[in-house]
Amino acid sequence: MIHNFNAGPSILPKEVFEEASRAIVDFNNTGLSILEIGHRTPLFENVLNEAVSLIKDLMQLDSNKEVLFLHGGASTQFFQLPMNFLSKEKKASYLDCGVWGTKAIKEAKNFGLVEVVASSEDKNYTYIPTGFEVPIDSSYFHYTTNNTIEGTQMQWIPETSVPLVADMSSDILSREMDFNRFSFIYAGAQKNIGAAGVNLVVADKEFLKQGNENLPSMMDYRVHVANGSMLNTPPVFAIYVCMLTLRWLKKNGGIKAIEEINSKKAELLYSTLEQIPLFQLPVNKADRSFMNAVFTMENPTLEKEFVALCKKEGMVGVEGHRNVGGFRVSLYNALPLSSVEAITDLINAFANKYAS
Ligand SMILES: *Cc1c(COP(=O)(O)O)cnc(C)c1O
Repeated sequence: MIHNFNAGPSILPKEVFEEASRAIVDFNNTGLSILEIGHRTPLFENVLNEAVSLIKDLMQLDSNKEVLFLHGGASTQFFQLPMNFLSKEKKASYLDCGVWGTKAIKEAKNFGLVEVVASSEDKNYTYIPTGFEVPIDSSYFHYTTNNTIEGTQMQWIPETSVPLVADMSSDILSREMDFNRFSFIYAGAQKNIGAAGVNLVVADKEFLKQGNENLPSMMDYRVHVANGSMLNTPPVFAIYVCMLTLRWLKKNGGIKAIEEINSKKAELLYSTLEQIPLFQLPVNKADRSFMNAVFTMENPTLEKEFVALCKKEGMVGVEGHRNVGGFRVSLYNALPLSSVEAITDLINAFANKYAS
């Protein structure tokens, strides 16, 4: 039995893998593989259309929102977004809460003025700053909803009168949220949406109208909208896997139902760790991530032993990110509660062994 706590690419539902593997050999009884059909055929158009409608349905998007599936991962959005909405005469505001936010800021600086409204770098990104103000002359305000590496998550949506933009790569579809408050959302698919190789973008029609002119077509969101995410050959298989994963989420009650399970998973893990002095939880309690739980151990010998024990018990992906060290357990949508029960049992057994 394998328990997959990988941070990304990460666990997906087993039934998705089973159906996707059948489609590689014979897609929908056509005698053709999903890997060899043209993207401009009704066969694939149906897949893309279903994926788009499932996103609109699950996220309860209003009719002002466009849904795109684009190449290049979230890292392409770090520069594509400012390329469309920033210029030397304009300013954008950013919140700096970790590695991914910092990268987004670095890329935006290539296109215009960037103001960092607040940062938690002073305490190794272990908390979310509050009380910051977003200048009203910003073209947009950008933040990361869940900091995958540092294990912090924003439990609130910032109040601002400027267009709100978020990188939701590692917690999209994991909890209910008023997604319509955002002018622009992006997320790499490989954490909660599906397979690596595609990026979800949800953009407000009015916001898109404010974009810069004379961009390369592949960089211009409006051109992608006009072409229905099919300006060129889309990542067909990755989009197919996303569609299957979205179907799975809908079948299992959608975001509301998965949020209940995700909360149980996070509460079980954090409450277990809180009771064991052997482990430390570096993140400010109110800002703990429900998707990526980060914890450390002061004793390096025991740390190695715990890693070895996890390995022996089939627990994959428990080691922390190289920037942070310690441990990181990712609790994405497809991870069952039983996997969290398994690792908390292991944590308790380990603590009992070394308590004496
Ligand atoms: C994983 C991740 C990224 C990077 O995604 P790529 O698809 O590899 O470019 C960006 N932001 C956040 C919050 C992430 O978790």
